[in-house]
Amino acid sequence: MAEIKKTAKRLNFKNPRLRRDAHEFPGGGKGLVICEKCDIFYYQKSWHHNADAFIAKRENKDLPVKFAVCPACQMIKNRQYEGEVIIRNVPEKLKNEVINLANAYCDRAFLKDPLDRLAAIGFVGSDISVRVTENQLANKLGKKIKDAFNKVKTKTSFQKSPGDVARVIVEFLEK
Ligand SMILES: [Zn+2]
Repeated sequence: MAEIKKTAKRLNFKNPRLRRDAHEFPGGGKGLVICEKCDIFYYQKSWHHNADAFIAKRENKDLPVKFAVCPACQMIKNRQYEGEVIIRNVPEKLKNEVINLANAYCDRAFLKDPLDRLAAIGFVGSDISVRVTENQLANKLGKKIKDAFNKVKTKTSFQKSPGDVARVIVEFLEK
């Protein structure tokens, strides 16, 4: 896979493991767990942005704080992903547009849900592969690409266990 982003390292295709427990983070307790890689924090069974602002509030200043690596950062570090969008037959002149759309869409998803991330984006042969940390994000991104471009047919298929990776195929019908 020829990488597009410098941060998107080579992926291990073996054993991408589904993190169904990603939203239940052990060790949360009554306090906060702040991710030491990306600064999101876990509090009352979910992940949030902007730990500094949260801690700065007077009513939160006595909460115990721990540091750990959040499930999304851990997945990316392990080169795992839950969803993959494979975009086929992309006209040469639209390739950058497709890549930019995927990046922007994942950035927005991250703002809505701190565990929704782009894990890697790159070329597999002539296809564009977008790997993400949540399978629903792959489905939504597939639909977004379909809506954004004319003459696009999409197909969604789920890979059977052990991977449980949602694989969404988006195919351009005309070059
Ligand atoms: Zn993190």
